[in-house]
Amino acid sequence: MFTAPPPAARLPTPYRNEIEVLAALLARLAAALDWNAAATLARPWVQAVRDKPAPFWAMESLLREYPISSAEGLALMRLAEALLRVPDAETAIALTADQLGKAEFDSASGGPHRMLASLSASAIALSKKFLPESDGEAGLLKRLGAQTVVAATVRAIQLLGRQFVLGRSIQEAMDEAASARKAQAGLRFSYDMLGEGARTEADALRYLASYGNAIEAIAGGRVAAGPESADGISIKLSALFSRYEDAQRERVFAELLPRVWQLIEPAARANINLTIDAEECDRLELSLDVFEALAARLARSFPQWRGFGLAVQSYQTRALHLVDEVARIARTHGLRFMVRLVKGAYWDGEIKRAQELGLAGYPVFTHKHHTDISYLACARALIGHNDVIYPQFATHNAGTIAAILQMGDKSDAKFELQRLHGMGEGIYREVMSNATVPVRVYAPVGEHRDLLAYLVRRLLENGANSSFVHQLADDAVDVDALLASPLKPANTAALPPPVALYGWNGRTGRANSRGVDLACLAEREPLERAIDATRIDTVREAASADVSAAMAQLRAAFPAWNATPLAQRAAVLRRAADALEARMAEFCGLLVKEAHKTLGDCVAEVREAVDFCRYYADQAETRLAVQSLPGPTGESNELHLHGRGVFVCISPWNFPLAIFTGQV
Ligand SMILES: Cc1cc2nc3c(=O)[nH]c(=O)nc-3n(C[C@H](O)[C@H](O)[C@H](O)COP(=O)(O)OP(=O)(O)OC[C@H]3O[C@@H](n4cnc5c(N)ncnc54)[C@H](O)[C@@H]3O)c2cc1C
Repeated sequence: MFTAPPPAARLPTPYRNEIEVLAALLARLAAALDWNAAATLARPWVQAVRDKPAPFWAMESLLREYPISSAEGLALMRLAEALLRVPDAETAIALTADQLGKAEFDSASGGPHRMLASLSASAIALSKKFLPESDGEAGLLKRLGAQTVVAATVRAIQLLGRQFVLGRSIQEAMDEAASARKAQAGLRFSYDMLGEGARTEADALRYLASYGNAIEAIAGGRVAAGPESADGISIKLSALFSRYEDAQRERVFAELLPRVWQLIEPAARANINLTIDAEECDRLELSLDVFEALAARLARSFPQWRGFGLAVQSYQTRALHLVDEVARIARTHGLRFMVRLVKGAYWDGEIKRAQELGLAGYPVFTHKHHTDISYLACARALIGHNDVIYPQFATHNAGTIAAILQMGDKSDAKFELQRLHGMGEGIYREVMSNATVPVRVYAPVGEHRDLLAYLVRRLLENGANSSFVHQLADDAVDVDALLASPLKPANTAALPPPVALYGWNGRTGRANSRGVDLACLAEREPLERAIDATRIDTVREAASADVSAAMAQLRAAFPAWNATPLAQRAAVLRRAADALEARMAEFCGLLVKEAHKTLGDCVAEVREAVDFCRYYADQAETRLAVQSLPGPTGESNELHLHGRGVFVCISPWNFPLAIFTGQV
């Protein structure tokens, strides 16, 4: 039904110089925005929210009391992340005891919000009092007590999560939405059935059924007047297929797309909005191919439907190109899309991934205000594409909202604002009392077992020092500072590049081995060409005379090598590392053809070999250096380490390059 098109270069590489990318964004934004006027508009909203702070049990209040950088904040984070997933009581007790042992929830705090008065924090503090001592065997009674206490902690974490979930079922959520509309008539909702990153086919089918059921309920047997004014649904492609990744391109088209189409058809018939959420950056290029394939089919089946959409993350260095590409797809197929602009919720994970994989740079901006600049430039571009795009601006930042309203005022484009359920209520209360722009609430629906990933993202967002909602809840942050103009780019990136992970500064320290972003076509292509070009020769057996000759030659060379100064030998290893790295594509070709490894494993293997060389060069320079040993006065004792001679290393089948290099 759907076949994978050949990968095509739609976007530039994400790893361009951040400062140069910023210059292009600012050029696109030129003269479109008067930030001072936007800040003036936003100031009374901020003041009004500060005059009526969030209730004491709200997540932002809790995280102000226990910042994520504190032991208590970290304990909360780890419990939220892990506790609800622990299947057995023993481990739950151990985890709770471990985490609460590190935290001081019950210490007196002089802040205006005594968080221990809050339901969740007090349950956690109570739990802590009753937990068995970590040392020594806990008796039966104590153990029973501990289980009850862990149950209370689980409940507390669930209550934290409830703040962000509109209902456990779609019906419950729709009832909640109906009562919210009694207070604010114009509210629209986009329901999000919790669940993402399916690990199994069973999970994926469960999420598919849940989305299908939700669409049926939202449609309610009627056809909406238009997707812009009706409630809709947000879906995550990672929920619908456990192998939603570039390496599984063919399967993604053959298996995932029919599932998405199964959801698109009823949404299009009911004329409601269906938006594909934005997830990790390494899915971006694949998701664009998926999006265009679905668009092409839509153009044939439902050309009149205006409700299909996707989310764009402005923290991606390619965000503006992405906006233009989506507009191009719409024009090519004669469609109109709904595009939700967000800043992006996976920043920490993206940075970590780039460092771990030794990528050429970061796919996201490293300064918070660079993401803001990108957001505003993308907003302007979306407004400019309003003939084919209905822009949906999702943000809880008062300055960003005011800037959007200002840019929107200068055009006749129709657009909406969006907030997450459980967040930004204060700011939106103020915005909606002054502006007539429609507001949609992104409303997660589901049970606690599917909440965790979402909850952790909200904890991070509420807890990050740089985050607007975090600073809004903190009276110590001056209103002018909160609304300071983001339009002044920094001179350099805020983080050292991934190559500097181990302290490399271009001269000293150890350089992280250079990896390849296989989800990025421009980076993958040279490896694919190398694989095609690789021919594996037949192994020629050496005769025993050949072996003797080789050994003799090696033995003869050994004394000179052993006498070579340490610094020179370390330099040889470092040159070997550089040479291996420079020939990454060639070695990947060999590893694929000879050892039948996957490309990801090949890159990891070459990197491991490179890391071995650099690591052992560093180790050699310290460990093999002559060491003075203590001894009686008048005696000088030194430890000299010498090479052990010629070794034979048999390359193992599973890591023919890395383990071989490490052994040698
Ligand atoms: C309706 C709605 C739908 C959403 N859907 C999605 C979605 O599909 N996919 C998704 O990823 N997110 C989604 N989000 C979450 C969204 O990304 C965050 O809520 C948003 O980033 C917060 O932005 P803000 O303007 O409210 O806050 P701000 O405080 O102004 O911005 C915070 C954001 O800045 C960025 N940032 C933080 N530190 C840095 C740094 N050092 N360098 C560079 N950038 C940094 C991050 O993106 C962070 O989230 C959605 C949000 C809403 C409101």
